[in-house]
Amino acid sequence: MSDHIESTLVLLKPDAVQRKLCGEIIQRFERKGLLISALKLLQLTPEMAGRHYVEHVGKPFYPSLIEFITSGPIVAMVLTGPNAVKIVRTMMGATNPVDALPGTIRGDYAMLMSCNIVHGSDSVVSAARETAIYFSEQEVVQRSLEEYYE
Ligand code: UDP
Ligand code: MG
Repeated sequence: MSDHIESTLVLLKPDAVQRKLCGEIIQRFERKGLLISALKLLQLTPEMAGRHYVEHVGKPFYPSLIEFITSGPIVAMVLTGPNAVKIVRTMMGATNPVDALPGTIRGDYAMLMSCNIVHGSDSVVSAARETAIYFSEQEVVQRSLEEYYE
């Protein structure tokens, strides 16, 4: 895999905010070396949640997913770095916390698939689509590769 600089869209879901885990989770991403390009706290409307999870429309878990993700404030972030999409997915762990290994975010903080703490885009294309739901172009700050080597 070549070391492409990528950006990925990460959500700290309502359970993370409610349990006051935002600082700890953001610290894990920062310590790994990912750069924050954008960050905000917001509460999703059902319309925004429907845009975000459009790929899951019609699945049995969709109604409860939308209810949960709109149930309280979330933190949305754009994280940037070499291979950021894959690195964040690896750090998150498996979707089902039963399968998420210790040392991953879901493995360390989550018990249930329905409240699994964190979202990360599954591809660069998804990241671009999802980022536009949360941030204007002006809100996403360009971060430079040199910052890794300072
Ligand atoms: N989800 C669920 N039940 C399922 C599958 C998914 O509640 O059977 C929820 C879970 O919170 C997951 C989200 O829907 O994080 C989106 O599912 P996806 O398969 O995209 O997983 P992710 O990309 O978040 O790992
Ligand atoms: Mg997904």
